[in-house]
Amino acid sequence: MSDVTESVQKADWKSEKHVPVIEAPESVKAGEAFEVKVSVGKEIPHPNTTEHHIRWISLYFQPDGDKFSCQVGRFDFAAHGESTKGANEGPAYTEPTATATVRINKPGTLQAVSFCNIHGLWESSAVVGVE
Ligand code: FE
Repeated sequence: MSDVTESVQKADWKSEKHVPVIEAPESVKAGEAFEVKVSVGKEIPHPNTTEHHIRWISLYFQPDGDKFSCQVGRFDFAAHGESTKGANEGPAYTEPTATATVRINKPGTLQAVSFCNIHGLWESSAVVGVE
């Protein structure tokens, strides 16, 4: 038996293409909107085919000192070349990138989890300070 935390893989996004990349300011003003971009494949592109693709990225925020994370956003990537003509003959592919506009009032950690349809769950995090 293995619990879910053991199946979420961690690595450096610069050397492992599955790791979600979080791009966010190191520090923000309390209550002021800022952008967080999440993506997979920034350094090493991940395939985007009917057989092999990134299905979704979820983004969370855990305030310092709090037990629980908040879900900030959930981004589904739904087009991967499917077609009545067959796999990879379709007209559209969704690349795994998304941007959320967020406000926080406490410092904490942004946490991203991505899911590859054949290579499973991957995570990363980024600290955000509050001025
Ligand atoms: Fe993969």
